[in-house]
Amino acid sequence: MPEIDMTRITDNLMSVYNYAFIDAMPYGFYKPNDAMYVGVKLVDKMYHCPKCKGEFTVKYRNDNDGITYFSKSRIAAQKKVYEELGLDFPANWELMEQPFTYHIVGICNECARKDIMTSQEEGQHIYNLCHELHMQDELMAAKAKKYMTDSLQKWLDGITESSYLMQFDLSTRESLRDLICAVILQDTKAVEDALQEYRDTIQPIIYEAKKLLDKQTPAWKANVAHSCSLPDSMSDEEYHEYTVAFPDEASEGQEFYMEKSIEKDRVSMFLTQHRLTSLEEVLMDAGFHEEWIDMVVDKGTSLKK
Ligand SMILES: [Zn+2]
Repeated sequence: MPEIDMTRITDNLMSVYNYAFIDAMPYGFYKPNDAMYVGVKLVDKMYHCPKCKGEFTVKYRNDNDGITYFSKSRIAAQKKVYEELGLDFPANWELMEQPFTYHIVGICNECARKDIMTSQEEGQHIYNLCHELHMQDELMAAKAKKYMTDSLQKWLDGITESSYLMQFDLSTRESLRDLICAVILQDTKAVEDALQEYRDTIQPIIYEAKKLLDKQTPAWKANVAHSCSLPDSMSDEEYHEYTVAFPDEASEGQEFYMEKSIEKDRVSMFLTQHRLTSLEEVLMDAGFHEEWIDMVVDKGTSLKK
């Protein structure tokens, strides 16, 4: 596994997916000015699904002294959401003083399963295929790391004498690295099988999505899954550290669907990106994980006891 001096294929796929389907706002370095931004004591966000009347809340981390800056256009949009939900919007002076909840109306994952995810409407169907493809890309990357770790673990489990481990040069991180790479490279069956399965799975997805995309208009609207644990920018134009709120760890894994406009060019770009095709690429892409060094060191320590 050589050192990586290029963008990982998986990282690139992730950013192109975000560019096509999630907000792609430029980052700006500046402190918000009062003319365009309003400071809000933002504490959490609440998701509402009108289909099942389901609601759930995600707490934000308490960064920037608990104040997040909203662009005035976002405040106006949020006032409409409050109205739609029949809630009283706080007075201007209260925004910075009283805990504020950001409300989001969309479709919960359970309701989405019933119609959105099985929709045959072409624009939605294209998105659904891309979302599935995105999940397969992520899954492949996760499996590669797991199976490489498993290979190392299996090798370590087979060692019962410290003298066996001592025959290798364990004196530097470099030599440990070389040893670990050699161990992983001699047991790649699980990774190869996962790669084959990945390729067999994504091929028909890409084929079908491309076929539908050919007939599609340049832009359309579809319901897009958003991860509730991703940071939210409360600025409509540019985002910067003062407008971004980070959900706390408890929110991981939840998805919520919101309507978004989708551009054909961007979808096409996502579908035609280079994906992992060879074992060499998978191993390079997974990279080297420092915890592997700890596994070997811990094993050495436990044998000496
Ligand atoms: Zn619902």
